[in-house]
Amino acid sequence: MADDFFAPTQWIELDPSALAHNARVFRSALAPTTRLLGVVKANAYGHGLEVVAPEIAKHVDWLGVHSATEARALREIGTALPILVMGYVPPVDLRDLDSGIHLLVSSPTALKWVADYRDRSGVSLPVHIKVDTGAKRQGVPEGAIGDMARTAGRYRLEVVGVATHFANIEDTLEHQFARTQLERFQHAVAEATSVLGVEPPFIHAACSAASLLFRQTDFTLVRVGISLYGHWPSRETKLSWILEHGRGGVELQPVLSWRAQVGQLQPVGKGESVGYGRTWTALRDTVLAVIPVGYADGYPRALGNRSRVAIRGCAAPVVGRVCMNIMMADVTDIPGVEIGDRVTLLGADGGATVTAEDLAALCGSINYEVLARLSPEIPRRLAS
Ligand SMILES: *Cc1c(COP(=O)(O)O)cnc(C)c1O
Repeated sequence: MADDFFAPTQWIELDPSALAHNARVFRSALAPTTRLLGVVKANAYGHGLEVVAPEIAKHVDWLGVHSATEARALREIGTALPILVMGYVPPVDLRDLDSGIHLLVSSPTALKWVADYRDRSGVSLPVHIKVDTGAKRQGVPEGAIGDMARTAGRYRLEVVGVATHFANIEDTLEHQFARTQLERFQHAVAEATSVLGVEPPFIHAACSAASLLFRQTDFTLVRVGISLYGHWPSRETKLSWILEHGRGGVELQPVLSWRAQVGQLQPVGKGESVGYGRTWTALRDTVLAVIPVGYADGYPRALGNRSRVAIRGCAAPVVGRVCMNIMMADVTDIPGVEIGDRVTLLGADGGATVTAEDLAALCGSINYEVLARLSPEIPRRLAS
């Protein structure tokens, strides 16, 4: 970036061709009648909703978000696709939703709010009934699905979907619980269908892991998040896939790279300490690259003295504590580093690659969290 005078101090690059590739991985496996929903909650898994959602919209049939606020944000950027709001939507959040915005409802109370909103505004929001099959998070108990369908009927609401969510499909190589959930879901769908008199068009249970591992979880819609962005949901999911299909089948391509500039070069003499708490001491004369990125930007503080960044195609260890807006990396062994050089915090730089999975493993978290916590303030741009 040394040749780009007005380059930002840090930025996130998004690769549209990687996104297209990942979408194809799912699309090519789905039955032609099964709809693909791209989950763009949490600022599109940290990728940046405004920049990445229009790209995702080219490859999917639906978008999924957590909140009504996110659904409105999608409409503001011009998305015309149907949107599924998957989280809790109290009355205050119903305002300004259009009838292409579907709600996943988990209680009779929520059904009443949707009916009341229709009576006040004239806008009838289609509902999908969420049934809890074992995650004990959202959804009505399996036995209550019939009552939900009857209540929706009394309110003259349009029930267009029945859905559930798996509890541990990405956490294990042993999928008995997922199979039990699937059976419970099938019973719930049958019950809802008998009450409604017709099977709702949108039956959905699958997240990335489910759709990668179990074709029978696809039904008529799949809700794919993390893997659309090019990441396996977990090592267990990848291992399960390999155990079933062998190596070399699905290649997901990470969409996001996080870059910054070297802000300063700091010489450190042998025996001198570095950073807050003096947690790292130079064992030799050392050169540090001071990088204007910290935990306020979403770089986990727990990675101090643990992770690496890439500079000039080489890995550079992060030394000392990660500060709020600043971190340091040892570039003693990388010749020629200059102020303004490009630092790769996530992504590939020549032969050196840093993945969200690497960082997550080093700080006891998961790739989802590393990505979702990337600050919305960091500028995003599509890679050309
Ligand atoms: C986030 C979410 C998904 C997507 O999960 P991935 O593991 O990222 O594919 C699907 N369904 C629901 C209800 C979710 O909250």
